[in-house]
Amino acid sequence: ATPTSIMVGAGRGAELGVLFRHGEALQGLSGIRVAAFDKTGTLTEGRPTLTTIQTAGDVTEEGALALAAALEHNSEHPIARAVLKAAEERTISLPALKDWRAETGFGVTANLDDHSVALGSKRYMKRLGVDLDPVASAIKELDESGVTLIILARDAQVQAVFGVSDPIRPGAFAALDALRRQGVKIAMITGDGDAPAHAVGRALGIDDIRAETPPDEKYQAVASLRKAYGPVAFIGDGVNDAAALAEADVGVAMGSGSDIAVESADVVLMRDDPAKVAAALGLSRATLNNIK
Ligand code: ADP
Ligand code: MG
Repeated sequence: ATPTSIMVGAGRGAELGVLFRHGEALQGLSGIRVAAFDKTGTLTEGRPTLTTIQTAGDVTEEGALALAAALEHNSEHPIARAVLKAAEERTISLPALKDWRAETGFGVTANLDDHSVALGSKRYMKRLGVDLDPVASAIKELDESGVTLIILARDAQVQAVFGVSDPIRPGAFAALDALRRQGVKIAMITGDGDAPAHAVGRALGIDDIRAETPPDEKYQAVASLRKAYGPVAFIGDGVNDAAALAEADVGVAMGSGSDIAVESADVVLMRDDPAKVAAALGLSRATLNNIK
């Protein structure tokens, strides 16, 4: 590839709203065989709403929501906004927590007086030794409806299960179709549960779905896709996607994604439109063909 043609290609990319962060990105993209998408915030809008609260024991809905919102107060995760908005709508005041900590890809934890409290995925609760039997039927119901669920625990006792729904980006359907027409295999790599991952995957016709993949395993999923199909583009938005973005042959970050995602990427989509991946691929192939 000549420097001039790469520059012209990159300039055309900018017009399309696709930022190639270096010349090799254009070249790399032209050779990809598989496009692996993160789910939350990439295929979905990443603006979830809280749809259900199921409490356990003698906890009230308000009490559970207050604690959950306090835990999400400092979080950057899209789920945090859903929880905080629900608490705001009910004008619930939040307790003050200490020792707050985010466990990227799992949830959040803190101390409330002498109690330890946590909010996050089923997997996170298992790690914390929380018995989920008291909420088994709520979990089953939410899983069947395909929403993301998060669980609140206090001193390793389950307090509530929340359902969070996050619509698929309208542009995602056409984006994946366009990529398939370009001969690219589609996959999903997500930290979210099996049920919501498959609900989104079914709607979008994705058959290779790697769910419940924590951040430090997302890059391994990228490596395994490369082994199976060839060069991989990974498209993501979150802190949890940084390693996978770096591992991919071409990392593509959503422009409104977290700073670390954008910094780890080779390509940035200025408007968060997954269709730009197909447009960028078309551009990269056209540029490289002109060169050859
Ligand atoms: P994705 O790969 O879909 O972007 P993440 O890796 O960020 O998802 O998170 C995986 C799962 O961990 C979420 O679906 C959620 O259950 C849980 N989780 C992560 N961060 C939080 C948080 N701040 N609050 C509640 N749950 C969280
Ligand atoms: Mg994400």
